[in-house]
Amino acid sequence: MNESAYERFKSTFESAHGQQHYSPFSKLLTGQIDYSAISQCLDIWKSKADKADPLLNKVHDWLTSEVDPERIESESKIPDDYLQGLRKLDCLRARIPEQYGGLGMSQCRYSQLLEKLGSRSEVLALVVSVQQLGVAQGLLSLQKLEQQPEQHQKGEALRNKYLDQLATNAIGAFCLTTPETGSDPSRLQTIARASPDGSHFELSGDWSIGGKLFTTLGTIADLYIMLAVVAFPDEDITNLDPRKRITAFIVERKYPGISVKPLSFCGWHGLPNAAIKLDKVRIPKENRVGEVGDGLKIAFMNLGSGRINISAISLGMMKHLARVARWWGVKRVQGGKPIGKHELNTEQLVSMNAHVYATEAFLQFVSALADQPDMDIRLEAAMLKLFSSHALVDLVDETLQLRGGRGYESYVSQASRGDTAIAVERLFAVPG
Ligand SMILES: Cc1cc2nc3c(=O)[nH]c(=O)nc-3n(C[C@H](O)[C@H](O)[C@H](O)COP(=O)(O)OP(=O)(O)OC[C@H]3O[C@@H](n4cnc5c(N)ncnc54)[C@H](O)[C@@H]3O)c2cc1C
Repeated sequence: MNESAYERFKSTFESAHGQQHYSPFSKLLTGQIDYSAISQCLDIWKSKADKADPLLNKVHDWLTSEVDPERIESESKIPDDYLQGLRKLDCLRARIPEQYGGLGMSQCRYSQLLEKLGSRSEVLALVVSVQQLGVAQGLLSLQKLEQQPEQHQKGEALRNKYLDQLATNAIGAFCLTTPETGSDPSRLQTIARASPDGSHFELSGDWSIGGKLFTTLGTIADLYIMLAVVAFPDEDITNLDPRKRITAFIVERKYPGISVKPLSFCGWHGLPNAAIKLDKVRIPKENRVGEVGDGLKIAFMNLGSGRINISAISLGMMKHLARVARWWGVKRVQGGKPIGKHELNTEQLVSMNAHVYATEAFLQFVSALADQPDMDIRLEAAMLKLFSSHALVDLVDETLQLRGGRGYESYVSQASRGDTAIAVERLFAVPG
């Protein structure tokens, strides 16, 4: 990469983050930790997260009695009754504030909910997370950028219209990635051409350039928040600087010109994901989210919450794996004693449980941090995500080893022999 391209890439991120706020880990690299912030956060967690939460108990009962994660895997699709179940249990409106028809859950409570879902079905947990991140969080983040009464009025109109739909029956998805750009949005090629009379924008992007790629929930979404580079009438798009023009739009699936292609991955079978082609999709000007050029700020304000959510889902999966490992370590006898009592395996079990404990403590801290206004959680959420992803990969690997041949054998194959079937192999292709 030449220097100017790199500088452009870097400044795209820096300018998108906006105003800095307090971060307890900001001095960590010089050995200074703000312990008072940590203990304060643990008090917040205790006051917000309740193990006897009636909603969590209902979700637990539903997951254990109605949800079979292997059905999602084998059908490569989320059954409609599972989506309806999530809707009935209010999971799809958990983080939307009460004034817009949601439950207004704190991040602490929501982390517990995602952990619970993740312990049974990582796919359903991710559906719940993405539903509140994309369109919902985008419209809520916009509030922080509304300086003028007129901007606030426009934002409120969008929030009242679309948050209500998400809280009632709509599914929302987030669309930034395109074929030409993933990590580097400064090269985004999705174009939003403004109409000469200013009444609408036309969104364009092909399967090979500018169209949306890897959109989670893309095949089942009714609403998308899409990032595109605004071009004014007759403007030559080759000379545009995306940094100043990337803008967010709410796009309804029913608008003419949208084609959706389902995608699949080596893991996460059944997770709806799509590539989206945009053939001059007409978007009313009222559906522009914020000002021209605000798009990346709106997108990146969500990054911290997204990282906490993935860590909460990972913790649920890790607790499931640790339970499997403990059970098998006692049940399976080889060489005259339970395999969990052989020194190497004992060490593995201790290490697994230590990682579960550390991830849980870290998750509680960062969730409580996110629940305080005006905190800069970028560093903490990124560290949490890094730690929990590594811990999950290790736990899957260790559980697979401990289960021996059964760890590598598919769930269906174990069940066909009448064995107690446990899917470690499904989770092997999930983390990353
Ligand atoms: C299952 C799944 C779900 C997804 N869901 C969504 C979604 O809902 N919405 C959405 O918009 N996107 C989504 N994505 C896209 C995801 O955000 C991108 O894949 C990601 O941003 C990386 O982009 P890329 O795939 O183009 O890889 P690239 O950006 O091309 O990166 C390729 C490799 O190069 C490395 N790399 C890139 N830049 C640098 C650098 N400057 N320095 C060092 N290394 C670098 C990367 O780390 C990576 O290893 C999803 C992807 C997957 C797999």
